[in-house]
Amino acid sequence: MENRNQHPISIRLKVTETCPWTCKFCHKEGGWQIDDVTWDTDTRLAMERLMRHAHVSEVHYTGGEPTVLNGLGLLTAGLRGMGLTVKTTTNGQLTPAKLDRLYGSGLRSFNFSMHTLDPHELSGIQRHMGVEAARLAISLQQAAIQHAVNIGAQVKINTVISGAQDAGRAVSIYEYAKRSGVLVRFLNDLNKGQTAIDVIDSICRDQLTATPVWYQQKPGTSATTTYYRDNDGYEFGVKGIRRCRIPALCAGCRETCTEQFYGMRLEKRDGIFWVRLCLRRQDDKSLMPLADFVRSDQLKQILQVTQSGVQTGTQYSELAN
Ligand code: SF4
Repeated sequence: MENRNQHPISIRLKVTETCPWTCKFCHKEGGWQIDDVTWDTDTRLAMERLMRHAHVSEVHYTGGEPTVLNGLGLLTAGLRGMGLTVKTTTNGQLTPAKLDRLYGSGLRSFNFSMHTLDPHELSGIQRHMGVEAARLAISLQQAAIQHAVNIGAQVKINTVISGAQDAGRAVSIYEYAKRSGVLVRFLNDLNKGQTAIDVIDSICRDQLTATPVWYQQKPGTSATTTYYRDNDGYEFGVKGIRRCRIPALCAGCRETCTEQFYGMRLEKRDGIFWVRLCLRRQDDKSLMPLADFVRSDQLKQILQVTQSGVQTGTQYSELAN
């Protein structure tokens, strides 16, 4: 189990837009037309800037599917050599041998995005994937999860819940994770608002008869996790979103805000590193070259919120009072 009281400042690094899957709900982390990120002088200088100015100590790969990036091992080894912790989200379409190589390069934490254990369902949420291909994809994913556990990696399974129709598959994934000794986290579909939150609440309390025991929030971001414990003592998480606004970014915003300020995202386009602060906007307050970001009011305020917003490892019952 991870140490819940460590909260590094993390950046989501969009390493590639390539992905073998075509999930209909993919938000593309804010948009494509990005370059692949490789380990080179530009990347090292960008990370040095982020470490110095934004106190970043953790890089979380996203995409696209990070594990399809050529050179991900070299990138990881380079970032690890700078003292950064490196984690990834993945759909788990990688062989045990590839997983071993990535682990060996210093990538020790894998968040597997699992949609379903049913090939028909997986095929249904993909734009282009037949049922047999979906069956193979699910077995590849399960083999990768098992292998990651066996080699001692930190493993989590994330699954998104939109509404009541997802309850059955969410419980199946919870049972699979419990059997495998892996932490599962339910994520509410941001586009479904309170509906998804209510469904997750009902699954946890009524179907799984679990009790909330810990609440955790990432300082300086909207990300929260409530940890539940079931009758067998198995703990699992429910990701949530709290109100978190950055005035230099959010003042006067007219968007329907579903994610609040979730954290910094880094992407490379036309050879330049850009920082993206909001998935719903694409203007000079929310998307700027890294060179401008490190001097921006947005960064000053993010650091202020980060320093003032620490509330971690709190017993859930204390919060309720
Ligand atoms: S949509 Fe983005 S910019 Fe607007 S309030 Fe929400 S986090 Fe801030």
